[in-house]
Amino acid sequence: MGRTTRRGRCERVRIDTQTRTLGVIGWPVEHSLSPAMHNAALREMGLNWAYLAFAVEPERVAEAVAAVRGLGLVGLNVTIPHKQAVAGLMDELDDAASALGAVNTIVRSEDRLIGFNTDGPGFLRSLQERGHTVEGRRVAIIGAGGAARSVAYATARAGAASIDLLNRTAEKAEAVARLAQEKGTARRVNTSGLEGERAREAVSSADVVVDCTSVGMYPNVNEGPVVPGQWLRPGQVVVDLTYNPRETTLLRAALEQGAEVVDGTGMLVHQGAISLLHWSGREAPVEVMREALLAALAR
Ligand code: NAP
Repeated sequence: MGRTTRRGRCERVRIDTQTRTLGVIGWPVEHSLSPAMHNAALREMGLNWAYLAFAVEPERVAEAVAAVRGLGLVGLNVTIPHKQAVAGLMDELDDAASALGAVNTIVRSEDRLIGFNTDGPGFLRSLQERGHTVEGRRVAIIGAGGAARSVAYATARAGAASIDLLNRTAEKAEAVARLAQEKGTARRVNTSGLEGERAREAVSSADVVVDCTSVGMYPNVNEGPVVPGQWLRPGQVVVDLTYNPRETTLLRAALEQGAEVVDGTGMLVHQGAISLLHWSGREAPVEVMREALLAALAR
């Protein structure tokens, strides 16, 4: 059976009494790319599951989480601004969700709710698929928000040789540094602002530079780059977590300097694929998810 959607796409739908439900909660959530990505994967995997987007007001998060049990949902993804609140509502947390105090994936196991955070593992896989690792490497992480915390935690756990944390508001980088220091084995964890010699040295000497800020994100696509392009060099891998646009001002500058670039779509696909692995116990079709994501981004 086919159905033409509001946006004119024709998608196969198969909703019946056996259909199991899952989805994403956020506020707002209408711009989420997760339904496109996950429903494409579910069709490919032959699962009679439907992935929906639920707009949940902040004061109703506990009710939404209770509905996972009440309605017998497979689970949920959790996006801004609910990741922290949901962490306090779980029966169990994985290591990352516990350390970060933030959940992006809820798995229901009978009546128990288990909270995972797949952002950091998704970041590591997005590097791996391009033949890179942070293990034993010097890593510079720019930003100190939720995404930076996930990346810093994963990078510290994965055995980076050193981690430099740079943020516009330098004090905020201190909290992220503590997380990286406590949870990892890096020989050196430093913090700095975005300007000055210390910042330049940290970025220029890094093997891997990860921009976890929202600088250059749609609609401010001409903003940035977050650090001067001249600080980048050939031999470096420069990652920007922003996925809209895929080529940010930082990645354009990195390409001009001869560095290798990785855009934010890889992390987005892989964090979703790992969520789906937690829900289904099966490896997700990453390329199908990527194709659906890129098509949704192009609309
Ligand atoms: P957030 O918690 O709001 O943090 C934003 C960060 O950006 C802060 O460190 C902030 O610095 C910095 N920043 C904002 N405007 C700036 C400016 N004009 N100059 C310098 N720094 C600036 O946001 P988030 O949730 O961490 O998300 C950050 C980015 O990562 C977004 O683009 C988001 O789409 C992306 N992201 C991607 C994925 C993925 O799967 N690819 C996953 C999560 C997030 P201050 O502390 O000084 O304010």
